[in-house]
Amino acid sequence: MRRKIIAGNWKMNGTVDETRQLLTSLLLALPSADKAIVVVCPPYTSLAIAKEMLNGSAIELGAQDMSHHLSGAYTGEVSGSMLLTVGARWVILGHSERRQFHAETDELINLKLKTALQLQLTPIVCVGETLEQRQAGQTEEIIGRQVDFCLQNISSADLRRTVIAYEPVWAIGTGKTATPEMAQEVHQFIRGRVSKIDSSVASILPILYGGSVKADNAEGLMAKPDIDGALVGGASLKANEFLAIVNAVK
Ligand code: PEP
Repeated sequence: MRRKIIAGNWKMNGTVDETRQLLTSLLLALPSADKAIVVVCPPYTSLAIAKEMLNGSAIELGAQDMSHHLSGAYTGEVSGSMLLTVGARWVILGHSERRQFHAETDELINLKLKTALQLQLTPIVCVGETLEQRQAGQTEEIIGRQVDFCLQNISSADLRRTVIAYEPVWAIGTGKTATPEMAQEVHQFIRGRVSKIDSSVASILPILYGGSVKADNAEGLMAKPDIDGALVGGASLKANEFLAIVNAVK
């Protein structure tokens, strides 16, 4: 039985004060911890305050990216061990906005994944096709390639600590959601692809769906057998909406 995970990707939103306000609201109304693993990923500058506020709570803390280097002359970068010192235990890797605006490749994401695992962070590795690729019938080819390259040379022991998020690029921040059936088809494909690496790991691998998840579509998506939770962008910035998504876990 895979436990559901609901992770909020705040993107470049949330000053320290806004983080305080949003977390205060979340902490006041968070449902019981056994419903789902709940993770919030604020921007780097809010991790320290988030750590302080979430201490002893059921909400876990994640970051939105990290360097594949351990330390050194990499101006503007943040290392995984720095994330650990400010309380992050999770890290999103290969988000489509990193791929699109920062030219991140599957090879780079693979390096980041190895570093995150080495440092005992829990990675959420994002994959997803663009609208053009879907319309050209290339969804499986693209997702298959992303999964293969991102997970290259990752041991089974490390794969057991990895989470994948299927995030169709055309559904991110657009209000267009994949139907539960469309998402399930791709999730099943991803699980099948991972089972070529290790079938026992594939059966326990959490695969989250991301792309305009809201309170009113979360339940249908998460009812599907291969959808193990959600990576939530815009809706994670509104406490009521995010809590309603957590509450949609059955
Ligand atoms: C995301 O950025 O990971 C995401 C899924 O965004 P949204 O929910 O806003 O589509």
